[in-house]
Amino acid sequence: MIKIKRLYEEGKDFFAVSDESPFYPDGKGGQLGDRGTIGPARVLFVKESGGEIHHKIDRPIEIGEYDFQIDLTRREDIAVQHSAQHILSAAFLKIAQAQTLSFHMGEESSTIDIDSPILTERTIEDVEDLANKIVRSHLNVEILIVDKDEAERMNLRKSISEKVGQNVRIVKIGDFDTAACGGFHVQNTGQIGIIKIIDWEKVKGTLTRVYFVAGARALKHFQKCIFVTKALQKALTCSLEDLGTRVESLIEKVKFLSSQLERLSQEHAEAIKNSLPGREISGYRVSFYEGFDGVAKALLKSHNADLMVCKVEEEFVLSSETLDCAQIVSKLKLVLNAPGGGGKKRGSVKANISMEEFLNALEKAMGVKE
Ligand SMILES: [Zn+2]
Repeated sequence: MIKIKRLYEEGKDFFAVSDESPFYPDGKGGQLGDRGTIGPARVLFVKESGGEIHHKIDRPIEIGEYDFQIDLTRREDIAVQHSAQHILSAAFLKIAQAQTLSFHMGEESSTIDIDSPILTERTIEDVEDLANKIVRSHLNVEILIVDKDEAERMNLRKSISEKVGQNVRIVKIGDFDTAACGGFHVQNTGQIGIIKIIDWEKVKGTLTRVYFVAGARALKHFQKCIFVTKALQKALTCSLEDLGTRVESLIEKVKFLSSQLERLSQEHAEAIKNSLPGREISGYRVSFYEGFDGVAKALLKSHNADLMVCKVEEEFVLSSETLDCAQIVSKLKLVLNAPGGGGKKRGSVKANISMEEFLNALEKAMGVKE
C-alpha cells in the first residue's frame, strides 16, 4: 500500500504526494524512474522534492491509501542499462584510463561522459569486446552495505561522494568492478545479453559522450540498422562493405554534375538574355523567364532589362539595377493579396498564378492599369 497525503494540480497535470514511495524517482543517480499504477491512476513521472515523492498521475484521486503496481519489465530494462553502464565505465578505465564523470539514462539510449577528448574506433572496439566478455562470463552482481571506512578500503572505481552517509551501498560485479551506487542492477551479468556503443561525440571541449544500448534495446537497435542498411544495399545494389565508398562516389558525382549544370545554366542565360520575351511597362523594359531554376537564377544575376522577372519554383522573383524592387513588391502584394518581400535590387512575391496573370498585376503595380 502507498499512502497519499496530498494532491495538487499544475496546469493539466495531477500530482499525488507521499512521504515514502516504492517508486524510484526519475533522474536520481542519472537513472530513469519507475512507472506503474497508484489505485486507478497511472504513474507518468516520479520526482523527489524536499524529502517527499511527487507522482505525476493521469487522473485525479483522493487522499488515502492505495494498492500500487510497478512496471517490472521497465524496471528490468532500467537494471540492464544501469548495470551495462557500470561495466562500460570499468572497461573505459581499464582500456583507455578514462574515468566516467557522469551518466544519463534516456528512454531510448543512455550516455556516459568520459574524461578523454579523443576516442579511436579501435578503443571503442576494445572496450566493447571487454564489456561483452564480462556479460558472457555470467559474473554475479553483489549488493553490499558497508560503512564508509570499509568502502574506502574496497578499491572503488570512483571515490565516494561527500553527500553519502555512514552506510554505503556497494555494487560489486565479480572481481571486475566495485562502485558505490543506489540504483537498480541485474543479479548476474548474463542478464544484460549484449552491450553496444552506438555513437560518440566530443563534448565540453575535453570530454567524450558515449551513447550505448544494452539488452532488448540493443536488439531493437540492431534490427533497425539491418533494415536500414538492407534498404540502402538494395537501392545502391552493393554489399554492406561497399556502402561507404558507393555513397561517397555518388556524392562526388552529384557535386560534379551540379557544377556542370550551374556552368551550363550560366552559359545558356548569357545566350538568351538579349532575346527574352518582354513587355514595356511605364517606359521600362521588363523581361521575363519561366523554365529551369538554374537559368532563372543566372538571369536574375545578369540581365539587360530594366526589370527581370523569373518564376523560380512557386515564386516570382524580381531583379533590377534601375528600379526599386522593394517598392514594386509592396504594391504587388496589395494587388495580388499575396506574401512577399525583399530589398531594393531584389524582391519576390509568392503567388500560384501564371506569368501572364503576374504581368497584368505588375502593370497595375507599376501604375499603368487601375
Ligand atoms: Zn549503479
